[in-house]
Amino acid sequence: MLQSAPDREPSSGAASDSTSLPAMRLIDSHAHTDATAYDDDRDAMFERAKDVGIEAIVSIGIDVDSCRRTLALSRTHSFVFPALGIHPNSANVSDETWDAFLEVFEGAVDEIVAVGETGLDTYRDSCPFEIQERRFRDHLALARRHELPVIIHCRDAYDPLIEVLVDEDFRHGVIHCFGGTTEHARTLLDHGFHLSFAGNVTYKSAEALRDAARLVPIDRLLLETDAPFLAPVPERGNRNEPSFVRHTAGVLADCLATTPTRLAEATTANAIRLFGLPIDAANPLAD
Ligand SMILES: [Zn+2]
Repeated sequence: MLQSAPDREPSSGAASDSTSLPAMRLIDSHAHTDATAYDDDRDAMFERAKDVGIEAIVSIGIDVDSCRRTLALSRTHSFVFPALGIHPNSANVSDETWDAFLEVFEGAVDEIVAVGETGLDTYRDSCPFEIQERRFRDHLALARRHELPVIIHCRDAYDPLIEVLVDEDFRHGVIHCFGGTTEHARTLLDHGFHLSFAGNVTYKSAEALRDAARLVPIDRLLLETDAPFLAPVPERGNRNEPSFVRHTAGVLADCLATTPTRLAEATTANAIRLFGLPIDAANPLAD
């Protein structure tokens, strides 16, 4: 069960970490904290995130029920901020279901920090492409209507994704778990997007992804876990959780020839700005 009065003390900044990483100020810009994977230890998972210096988690709803759960979590945990959407793999919904999503969304619009995740995915075939594209455009319209950023999922569909973003002249948001080429990265950055990197950037085989990361201006870079999926090295293969975002910060800092602390500071400032998070820089967890 969730507790209604989470610990609101600021993190001490002296996280006891078994690795050599320093204390950092971090935001996990993309996690699925409503996932059943956390049903047995969700509050402990949130506490571990605070213990390593995570100041905010953007938690992502992916269908109507998940959006409701995500909202409920954000209302009982002050450092969880909701982004609501219908995932492209689940986008084959009736107009009735879309309307139910809109009702949840509009009913909480002042609490929501982004629209999504939405996007295009031709890797999985659970939803016909034309329907994904239609619902993606619906999400962009919703974001425009409320002046919110979008959180975009893209898998094996970067060219059509860029076509839609150009066609809609939509320039406000982040490509989550970026997995395109350096050329895609350049195009999306030129178009105004932020790029977010997840645990897969730490994998030994991900040199091409690290090349793309080196192209990203430091003020357009975000960090995420995509938890419970894609745990970074050294947790690869285990259930992922927001506290592991520090490992991705460590690898990306090496890759960009900066320190983990500086990278964490920059990506945290970027997330606060992009999502308009109401975090006091001096005492972020205070109400
Ligand atoms: Zn996701």
